[in-house]
Amino acid sequence: MQSVDTLRSRIRGTVLEAGGKGYEQSRQVYNAMIDRKPQVIVQCADVADVIAAVHFARETGLRVSIRGGGHNVAGLAVCDNGLVIDLSRMRHLRVDREHNTVRVGGGCVWGDVDHATHAFGLAVPSGFISTTGVAGLTLGGGLGHLTRKYGLTIDNLLEADVVLADGAFRVANKRENTDLFWALRGGGGNFGVVTSFLFQAHPVHTVTGGPMFWELDQAGDLLKWYREFIPSAPLDASCFFAFHTIPPSPHFPEAYHGKKMCALVWCCAGPQHKANSILGAVRAFRAPAFEMVGPMPYPALQSMFDPLYPPGLQWYWKADFLKEIPDEAIAQHLLHSSRLPTTLSTVHIYPINGAAHRPANSDTAWSYRDAVWAQIIAGVDPDPANRDRITAWARDYFEALHPYSAGGAYVNFLMDEGDERIRAAYRGNYDRLAAVKAKYDPDNFFNMNQNIHPKRA
Ligand SMILES: Cc1cc2nc3c(=O)[nH]c(=O)nc-3n(C[C@H](O)[C@H](O)[C@H](O)COP(=O)(O)OP(=O)(O)OC[C@H]3O[C@@H](n4cnc5c(N)ncnc54)[C@H](O)[C@@H]3O)c2cc1C
Repeated sequence: MQSVDTLRSRIRGTVLEAGGKGYEQSRQVYNAMIDRKPQVIVQCADVADVIAAVHFARETGLRVSIRGGGHNVAGLAVCDNGLVIDLSRMRHLRVDREHNTVRVGGGCVWGDVDHATHAFGLAVPSGFISTTGVAGLTLGGGLGHLTRKYGLTIDNLLEADVVLADGAFRVANKRENTDLFWALRGGGGNFGVVTSFLFQAHPVHTVTGGPMFWELDQAGDLLKWYREFIPSAPLDASCFFAFHTIPPSPHFPEAYHGKKMCALVWCCAGPQHKANSILGAVRAFRAPAFEMVGPMPYPALQSMFDPLYPPGLQWYWKADFLKEIPDEAIAQHLLHSSRLPTTLSTVHIYPINGAAHRPANSDTAWSYRDAVWAQIIAGVDPDPANRDRITAWARDYFEALHPYSAGGAYVNFLMDEGDERIRAAYRGNYDRLAAVKAKYDPDNFFNMNQNIHPKRA
């Protein structure tokens, strides 16, 4: 068997082993519930390092995981006793001003992209928090503040550089390796290591955004307002619904500290006067108890919740896509949200329509273009002693709401939930994904993911 020193001699980045300097820190991921101990972590410096790491894993038979931002709540970036291909050093970026595109290294987080593009008055549609990895979020789909206006993150992906399971390098776009390009747009990390992404960016600079909060007894009426508003709202406007407990932080009014409340978190990317008219309508419907909405640079909105959710918390979540939010579901929300088990536990209902509805279900691997919302029930707490409590609450809440779902869930919001849930996430696209997997990764070398089993068509 090849020694780790052989691997070291082949790469320019860093190879970490158990017991060595930097290993303990590098095996940690965002969700502190995950405690996996890889044999080797390869912090790649470039594409050649990724190729060398793939060959080494092939020669030694080590299981492989791929680390982008390390944010995945199921902990799919790290594996026990295997080899982690860690891209966190590959954080190069280049904005092309002529074409309004940005080339992004496979180890970037979204804060890196926001920083680079904002200087040019541009943004790429991503998520709701800036510490999430570009790679994992993009390969799963990418839902965020700009989804309604500019589509999912994958709808703005122009090209990907990929190292395949046999160490070969491919470019995937609308002209080359089109089957791979189709599968990468929603199929997760099943097909290879993406070493760089090329995105279309859009003119977004200052947005009107932030949360509005209401007392919990307003939640039923507010959810009914939200379910009517989102399907026909102007595309410049987006907001997601949330249940939260107000943290004891000086950023929030003291009178509400520790109170369970409901919220709408806004992002209006159009002109200020249009934002004012939209926000005026919701304030007229029901005046918020307090709000933190105003004009701000887009990266400020993207990073607004970063301090509240630093790495190292315990996370357990359950999710579903929704096509409707019936009164019966609202009744269950009112019951279970009143039992939010810890200050950081939360429920979010994200909108998916507008530009995200333009492609058909089969145009990309992401197969829920007909969903209107993605719902996530997240148990979160710093204390490992509360692990069971937050898990039980999220599961109970999910069980009560699941009958009103569209059937499947967003693949980036899945825990380790088994093959049926993965099939439900891809429904009609699963067999085509399995065929692309059979072509590019017939041995299922990349299996530390929401796994698609290779199967010839
Ligand atoms: C607090 C929080 C907020 C979130 N908010 C959003 C949101 O607003 N919108 C949204 O859509 N999602 C959101 N997510 C979910 C997020 O998209 C996923 O957790 C995603 O997997 C994170 O990407 P990552 O690169 O950090 O993943 P990692 O943990 O690094 O990796 C996860 C998986 O992605 C694959 N992968 C990673 N890098 C690569 C690569 N370079 N090439 C091939 N495969 C790779 C791996 O196979 C691995 O299985 C959020 C998650 C958290 C914890």
